[in-house]
Amino acid sequence: MGQIKHERRKLASRFADSSMTTTTDGTEGFKYSPVAMMPDVKVIKMGGQSIMDRGREAVFPILDELVAMKDKHKLLLCTGGGTRARHVYAVASDLELPTGLLAALGGYVPRQNARMLQMLLASHGGLYIMNDDFEKLPLYFRLGCIPIMTGMPPFGYWEKPTEGGRIPEHRTDAGVFLTAEVLGCKRAIFIKDEAGLYEDDPKKNKNAKHIPRITATELMKLDLPDMILERVVIKYLGRSRFCTELQIVNGLERGMVTRALEGEDVGTIITR
Ligand code: ADP
Ligand code: MG
Repeated sequence: MGQIKHERRKLASRFADSSMTTTTDGTEGFKYSPVAMMPDVKVIKMGGQSIMDRGREAVFPILDELVAMKDKHKLLLCTGGGTRARHVYAVASDLELPTGLLAALGGYVPRQNARMLQMLLASHGGLYIMNDDFEKLPLYFRLGCIPIMTGMPPFGYWEKPTEGGRIPEHRTDAGVFLTAEVLGCKRAIFIKDEAGLYEDDPKKNKNAKHIPRITATELMKLDLPDMILERVVIKYLGRSRFCTELQIVNGLERGMVTRALEGEDVGTIITR
């Protein structure tokens, strides 16, 4: 290390003379190695329709598994919306309301779910947090808490126009992936009601074949008619720096959540 000169420091900005709207963003050629802020956090989504809407029969055993793991792993629990969110999308679309409003309205439901899980986990350190409380996570984990937040990304009125429709494309699967990405976590875990991805919706086609592992590129190529994760997530996975693996497990099958938290490749792994 050289000696620090005690002169007034001038900040040379790389972008001072740039509109930042050119085809390249001006950072090419510079070494980019972003800091993984909290790589050891397990970012988990509790499915909305797939789990929460099934009530205690589905939810309680999963909470038991999470509580049993909470002193071993740092758990950040995120919630999906489910049927109530779908209902508000249907009513609001019928009323010809714009996508941004649908996203704002749909965002209330996963928050309801997060509040319910917080109450249920209160005696185990369940703590309701806001999307921008990330800087408090180290403290919460040190205190033995299970932070719980909505999985919905806070785009709300600023939701991007939807390709070929009007239902917000960035819902809670997207929010959970983006959370893992910003925190620097390699894998995001999605607790749903099927053992992962199949070649067809297993609820409609009993013979659908299970896919244990697939890359985002291969999955895009398959162009499945329906999927277990929001499509934008697969699109963004190709650009991710940290969150390069998405794991989908069946929370209705006892022990699967525990095995996923222990790093086992159960369910389906979708890789970058
Ligand atoms: P969540 O409530 O967790 O967001 P969803 O209900 O949105 O979960 O998505 C999970 C559902 O996706 C499963 O219950 C399954 O029936 C359905 N699904 C549709 N296509 C597929 C597929 N190709 N593979 C697996 N599940 C699929
Ligand atoms: Mg969903």
